[in-house]
Amino acid sequence: MDEISPPRSKDFIRQIIADDLASNKHQGRVVTRFPPEPNGYLHIGHAKSICLNFGVANENGGVCHLRFDDTNPTKEEVEYVESIKSDVRWMGFDWGEHLYYASDYFDQLYTYAVMLIEAGKAYVCSLPPEKIREYRGTLKKPGKDSPYRGRSVDENLDLFERMKAGEFENGTHVLRAKIDMASPNITMRDPVIYRILKKSHHRTGDKWCIYPMYDFTHCLSDSIEGITHSLCTLEFQDNRALYDWVLENLPVKCQPRQYEFARLNLTNTIMSKRLLLKLVQDGLVDGWDDPRMPTLSGLRRRGYTPRAIRNFCERIGLAKKNSEVDIALLEHCIRVDLNERAHRVMAVLRPLKVIIDNYPEGQTEDLVFQNHPEDAAMGTRMVPFSRELYIEQDDFRIDPPKKFFRLAPGREVRLRYAYYITCVDVEKDEKTGEILAIHCTYDPETKGGSSPDGRKVKGTIHWVSAAHALEAKVRLYDHLMSKPNEDAKEETGFADLLNQNSLEVLDACRVEPSLKDADPGTKVQFERLGYFNVDPIDSSPGKPVFNRIVSLRDTWAKIEKAQESK
Ligand code: ATP
Ligand code: MG
Repeated sequence: MDEISPPRSKDFIRQIIADDLASNKHQGRVVTRFPPEPNGYLHIGHAKSICLNFGVANENGGVCHLRFDDTNPTKEEVEYVESIKSDVRWMGFDWGEHLYYASDYFDQLYTYAVMLIEAGKAYVCSLPPEKIREYRGTLKKPGKDSPYRGRSVDENLDLFERMKAGEFENGTHVLRAKIDMASPNITMRDPVIYRILKKSHHRTGDKWCIYPMYDFTHCLSDSIEGITHSLCTLEFQDNRALYDWVLENLPVKCQPRQYEFARLNLTNTIMSKRLLLKLVQDGLVDGWDDPRMPTLSGLRRRGYTPRAIRNFCERIGLAKKNSEVDIALLEHCIRVDLNERAHRVMAVLRPLKVIIDNYPEGQTEDLVFQNHPEDAAMGTRMVPFSRELYIEQDDFRIDPPKKFFRLAPGREVRLRYAYYITCVDVEKDEKTGEILAIHCTYDPETKGGSSPDGRKVKGTIHWVSAAHALEAKVRLYDHLMSKPNEDAKEETGFADLLNQNSLEVLDACRVEPSLKDADPGTKVQFERLGYFNVDPIDSSPGKPVFNRIVSLRDTWAKIEKAQESK
């Protein structure tokens, strides 16, 4: 496991925590929580919240709870619970014994709700849902009192009890907090705190047919667990007043404070669980862990490392204003990580046969290559060289355009770490004109890739030995969404915004034989082509499938340079 180091600078939340520690506000305790709703897989946006909540706890000798906010049995499943646990662990964080479920508090939450009724601060409302919405008013128009607002405490207690007993159908009654229908903050206009949902729950089974709403559950769960800093995203800003109201109006032992930070938005990416679920359900991607998905399981399968994601979360920082992060920064972070750690190997994605006419037939040389050009400690490997090789189709042109320095008729190039070769002939299919193979000669004096006579060549290309190479499937990925900033929030037409070229599968690639037994999840750099991951699901022994994580062209480095020179 990599060390997880604290960020180099203090963001506003870390500053608040430092100040609280200095003033001994919570007797030196820092208790945070990561509270996912188990209604989908975690995505890179959740990673930001995970790194923050677990990060600040770890940095301050505190604890971070993993709490499932499982109050809506219609959308939640055990599969999601398990995936979330394994994703948080994969990110490198540990909740220890602090695994909680909001559903474990249902009894206590019910008792609290009864207390509010008894205090005249909650009532059973029997308006149908659309009327409740209508009566709520708008930003410009105050709300209107429900005709049921004046129900007596006894009637409310009786109705709430019978709601719990299952006497009423879904949508016929709700429990609402009695706050202020004219409040400028719509959240405070008598919010619903309990509803009837006749649905089995993945943990409580059929014990309950009424379920508490998020705003009621969340603050009380925080309080029950003794959370000191309740960190959430900006869209909950208006809910803070309700968070505080609930805690102030109940005899709770502790009153946590909620702080909001900007959620992560990424270019060319959708981040809403609802839309990601739709992609999965409509078969537009190959499951939650499709390597194009921004889910942690998708990123993991693509080949992203937890270290790269954590670095990314540190680099984007924490702001109080929403903005959009260029996906190029995420790609930059995985490049930086793998540049340090990934072995270099050779692979040819679109093979073109090269025959070296003056190389002895049947001869093989085992060349010894370093696995990493800057790190001898990463060892060496054998790469066979022989008379017939494959190079990339792209590295050869019959009529080379200007500035094309790779192979062409009559031209000499360097085969990486091997020999200089010169193209002497081209074999074509007579009918189609397709290039079948090219013939070259090699200069035996240039072994290792340099010439004793100081002769220079402009191009260096990669290669594999045809007889020794392993055939492999390689998948190239592009962004899931075709446009950087398109707002894919609506279901309507949202599929049209998908990048139709987000996946390209190449079936007949050739990779060097050292990769034959590469373990699933092995990450390598294919020289000149990018970083690739051995797919953990589709690979089988001796038959790796490679996912391209990123190409080598770092657009973020360019963006940064441009910003610096401004
Ligand atoms: P979505 O809007 O994608 O459906 P959500 O907010 O409903 O996500 P939750 O399971 O409730 O998902 O999220 C758990 C925690 O992760 C919450 O505290 C939430 O604020 C945080 N979170 C969710 N999305 C992001 C994001 N894009 N950036 C930062 N934090 C996020
Ligand atoms: Mg949510």
